[in-house]
Amino acid sequence: MAQHQFQTEVSQLLHLIIHSLYSNREIFLRELVSNASDALDKLKYLTVAEENYKSISFDPRIDLSFDKEAKTLTVADNGIGMNEGDLEESLGTIARSGTKTFLEKLGADAKKDSNLIGQFGVGFYSAFMVADRIEVISRKAGEEKTWKWSSEGKDSYGIEETESRKEQGTTVILHLTEEGTEYANRWTVEDIIKRYSNHVAFPIYLTYDEKEFDDKGKEKSSKTKTDRINSGQAIWRRAKSELKEEDYHEFYKTLAHGSDELLHYVHTKAEGTLEYATLFYIPSKAPFDLYQVDYKSGVKLYVKRVFITDDDKELMPTYLRFIRGIIDSEDLPLNVSREILQQNKILMNIKNASVKKLLGEFKAMADGAAHSEEAKTKWETFIQEFNRPLKEGLYQDFANRDALQELVRFKSTAAEGWTSFADYVTRMKGDQKNIYYITGGDEKTLRASPLLEAYKAKEIEVLIMDDEIDDIVIPSLFSYRKELPGTDGKMETKSWELKAVNRAGADEELGEKKDKQAEKEAKPVIEKIKKALGDRVKDVKLSRRLHDSPSCIVADEKDPSIQMAQMLKAMGQTGMTEVKPILEVNGDHPMVTGLKDVGDEGRIADVAGVLLDQALLVEGIKLKDPADFVKRLNRLLSG
Ligand code: ADP
Ligand code: MG
Repeated sequence: MAQHQFQTEVSQLLHLIIHSLYSNREIFLRELVSNASDALDKLKYLTVAEENYKSISFDPRIDLSFDKEAKTLTVADNGIGMNEGDLEESLGTIARSGTKTFLEKLGADAKKDSNLIGQFGVGFYSAFMVADRIEVISRKAGEEKTWKWSSEGKDSYGIEETESRKEQGTTVILHLTEEGTEYANRWTVEDIIKRYSNHVAFPIYLTYDEKEFDDKGKEKSSKTKTDRINSGQAIWRRAKSELKEEDYHEFYKTLAHGSDELLHYVHTKAEGTLEYATLFYIPSKAPFDLYQVDYKSGVKLYVKRVFITDDDKELMPTYLRFIRGIIDSEDLPLNVSREILQQNKILMNIKNASVKKLLGEFKAMADGAAHSEEAKTKWETFIQEFNRPLKEGLYQDFANRDALQELVRFKSTAAEGWTSFADYVTRMKGDQKNIYYITGGDEKTLRASPLLEAYKAKEIEVLIMDDEIDDIVIPSLFSYRKELPGTDGKMETKSWELKAVNRAGADEELGEKKDKQAEKEAKPVIEKIKKALGDRVKDVKLSRRLHDSPSCIVADEKDPSIQMAQMLKAMGQTGMTEVKPILEVNGDHPMVTGLKDVGDEGRIADVAGVLLDQALLVEGIKLKDPADFVKRLNRLLSG
């Protein structure tokens, strides 16, 4: 038999699977059944969509059997099958980059939970948790030859041609380990299938021997019986009234290879101009690949219950990539090609309606949070996991901007927990015109920023935006709009501008400009500082926003913030002209007033340097020349 080496990642994975995965080992069966079901889906599609396959008549099914003496467990399907090349590719390599993440995660996870395995697209290999040798016998639909793949799960596997299988499909034979023999048991198998695979849409049969014994305990007769052990229907096509809460939970386990519980589900059946069913799940945990470029799409497309694809990222907008579920259309033709899908009007309409529906559900979750502790926890879990992708939606999905801006949440100087734009404007006092926010650092740095002092003093709320994405999303939003009843009772759209407190121009509402007199008095000092700092700053100004601190930095209204500029640079964005800050100084602070009568240029330079550098430091910005800062500081302290 020709021997092949496993790809390195596969060997590593197998080593981990065999030596470190102990909890939840029974999920291997869910994974094998899921592969069988996928194979049936694929062939079913071909037989209705492609001329060459139309002659294949087949009755899709999954067959389980075991042999206690021989210590084997077998999972067979009559699906698409694999030829020699497919076997090599599918059971010898791992294509997706998620494996690395998976290996790292497993390595770090003290619980070593095997339940994770299916999510990472490496489910087949989980069978090595219970078997020390696996044979896969497969014949691809429309081909003559049957192939046998076999491996002990170490470094290599063999492939050879073997006795012909009657029908197309795949048989996976597990040679169970000592501990694995518990799975060569009728009740165990049935129980696992009921728990994890009850809602697989194809019939699953279990073949077993029913023995009768005489009163001395001797075997009298033995009959081989085959029972169907799953209820298996396309759950999303059934009437909601027929379905119980636990049906949805069970199906979620099958669909999402879930280790997490579902947070929420939405089942829709549309009958009208368009006929379709959708079943969407919101997981309680973000998928591991949420922030990976090659994330796996979570939504499957069916047409008239025939599986079409689970690999079309266009089925959901990118920012909703955490949604798991199914779209099943009655109106699309079965032979839709992938290319056509992209521009298909019907699908576009289903997608748009689905997005609206989901955003509506999110909103209902948010509103529900006020009514019970349980609903509150649910909403907070949702925000914890998915606030960030929703913010992406703010600049990806203009059509749903109004809905999305009601969903995103922020931290705030005025309240604990999460704050929405709507919360903010209801808390606004008097005739406040703008919504204020601060970005560029972690929560602690932002809360301590001297830029907030005057807002605090005036009791103006500021949103603390400590998520990196805020810096990109919020400026592109410009304003928050909301329909509110006006003075005459009619609804009118009100709008509030969003203003970053670290921008020039965000201080209008902080009170009258310092009076002329103060400006005039401060002018010579400002000039001194400006001269001393030279081209390190764009400008030096007398501040309206400082109370206790001597200085702060702000960015010019049209410049990116300094933190943002640093981030872009770190991401490899070059060629940007350096962004220089505007230094604002507190005209009442002794460090500033003290300069009035100083003529010594060295001392002015030291004070000015420290004023600038400390303002940068408080904003969490790295100093270009820390040694220079320390020297100046020491000179000032010693004399
Ligand atoms: P995934 O199912 O996420 O792709 P698996 O490790 O479970 O990952 O399976 C790897 C691949 O092996 C599948 O994508 C499929 O191409 C192939 N495969 C596994 N089992 C079968 C089967 N019963 N019939 C046909 N192909 C199979
Ligand atoms: Mg699989």
